[in-house]
Amino acid sequence: MQHILEPDVALPEWLSARGQPTWRARVIRRWLTGGRAESFDAMTDLPKGLRLDLTAAFRIWTTSIAKHTRAEDGTEKLLLELHDGQRIECVLLREQGPGADDAGARRTVCISSQVGCAMGCVFCASGLDGVVRNLTTGEIIEQLLRLQALLPAGERLSHIVVMGMGEPLANLDRLLPALSSAQDPDGLGISQRRITISTVGLPPAIDRLAAENPSYNLAVSIHAADDDLRTRLVPVNKSIGLVEVMAAADRYWEASGRRLTFEYVLLGRLNDQPEHAHALVQLLARRAILVNVIPYNRVAGLPYEEPTQADRERFLDILRAAGVNVHVRRRKGARIDAACGQLRRLAASNA
Ligand code: SAH
Repeated sequence: MQHILEPDVALPEWLSARGQPTWRARVIRRWLTGGRAESFDAMTDLPKGLRLDLTAAFRIWTTSIAKHTRAEDGTEKLLLELHDGQRIECVLLREQGPGADDAGARRTVCISSQVGCAMGCVFCASGLDGVVRNLTTGEIIEQLLRLQALLPAGERLSHIVVMGMGEPLANLDRLLPALSSAQDPDGLGISQRRITISTVGLPPAIDRLAAENPSYNLAVSIHAADDDLRTRLVPVNKSIGLVEVMAAADRYWEASGRRLTFEYVLLGRLNDQPEHAHALVQLLARRAILVNVIPYNRVAGLPYEEPTQADRERFLDILRAAGVNVHVRRRKGARIDAACGQLRRLAASNA
């Protein structure tokens, strides 16, 4: 049975082959992207016979919710079990708007692109066991729909960040159709400008994105400004190197005209000292960029530590004094382990 969220499902053609008007494809899609139709039978404005035919031909959900956690700050996290028993995570982050009327409020979802990860960043929980497999397009869309369904009626997801488990640029063939489906005005209607793809920095894939879809926001996980240290923290750097990563980032910027983000996880005494900040300023010089500084979220069993407050402040001061735009990612949902592969490992070790 086919998963209805896969891109090769040609719903209008399927409908017309059954003598149904093709506009019903839009009706079905709206039910699906509302995230609230648990079954075709619940799509009450479709004829009964059509609902039965759909039920016989397609599956809506291939995942089940293995765990749902909620933090005090409104962050919610889902551990989803896939049809083959593998598990992935996705997160809903709520940020209030500046006004009392909730204008400008963000409902951002962080989604996974793979089961596990092959990049091997030494401080990250997702890659500890390597990559198991790519997610399918339908599995990526299901994360969006499951999270959309957590919102009260009338609230919509506003932003997507592909910063969950996996390396998104290693699974572009399945990710890109999922992200274009998220833009469907009959569906979630989230514009490319509100979608951010985070990558360890794979130049050929960055170039492909620049050629095909340069309107996404690109975030490059840099974490160190010299090759020796970066290769220690981000082992794939060994065969790529910072010169190539930066050159690819610059080409993306030229194609997109959108400000690039560089992510920098601060690891106590490893990459948080003044010389590291000065090297980062040098590396990024003369570029219109934002540095997203992420305080390390501890992973059980790994020896890395958060920076001290003094080290963190000094690091940020050096960047700001050099005129670098800096954003410090606030801790959201830390108590529900809402960071990269942590819940999945926890669940596996408790199982
Ligand atoms: N593979 C992609 C996207 C997934 S990780 C990438 O490397 O960008 C998203 C971000 O979270 C990356 O910057 C990653 O380095 C960071 N990260 C991973 N584990 C972390 C941890 N325990 N604490 C803080 N940030 C972490």
